[in-house]
Amino acid sequence: MTMTTITTTLLTLVELPYAYDALEPYISAETLHFHHDKHYATYVAKLGELTEGTQYATMPLEKIVLSSDGAIFNNAAQAWNHVFYFDSLAPRAKHHPTGELRKAIDKDFGSLEKLKERMTAMSLSLFGSGWVWLASDHDGQLYIIPKANAGTPLTDGLIPLLCIDVWEHAYYIDYRNSRKDAVENIWKVVNWAKVEERYDEIK
Ligand code: MN
Repeated sequence: MTMTTITTTLLTLVELPYAYDALEPYISAETLHFHHDKHYATYVAKLGELTEGTQYATMPLEKIVLSSDGAIFNNAAQAWNHVFYFDSLAPRAKHHPTGELRKAIDKDFGSLEKLKERMTAMSLSLFGSGWVWLASDHDGQLYIIPKANAGTPLTDGLIPLLCIDVWEHAYYIDYRNSRKDAVENIWKVVNWAKVEERYDEIK
């Protein structure tokens, strides 16, 4: 068993894996400039300040997430979550999972449509800022997990497969107050090939 690991050191700003306008019209270039270059970059910079001269300074990001709390956890987890989020989306992405992941989705949720409905509903019912995750345990069982603020299923010992960022900064420029429209459109740019790759690494 292996885990998807983001091994970047904490001071490394990971570039967006596609052009800023690549996800239009669902996510605008303006949103991605703010989301990546301002919000995500600020978490990385803040983490650098908070960890300078501490035991965390040379740790891989994922290890910091698993071993810290308070402000260091919040900034480390937000840095990790954002790299994972940007990497979960793609232009002209594979729209439907196949293979083992598809079998697991059908077994655990009934169908892909039901999985999307449940993740969308949880995104709408999550109060305030947070993330809705699709995650797996080490046996391949799938879970949908809402987390407030910087929360991540990594701290539950689960393996993240996909996440929806429901912080207002993820959608407010494009969708204003309509989290519903934002989340429904996210499905158009989810890169199921990447989600499958993460799932296939578990077994
Ligand atoms: Mn965000």
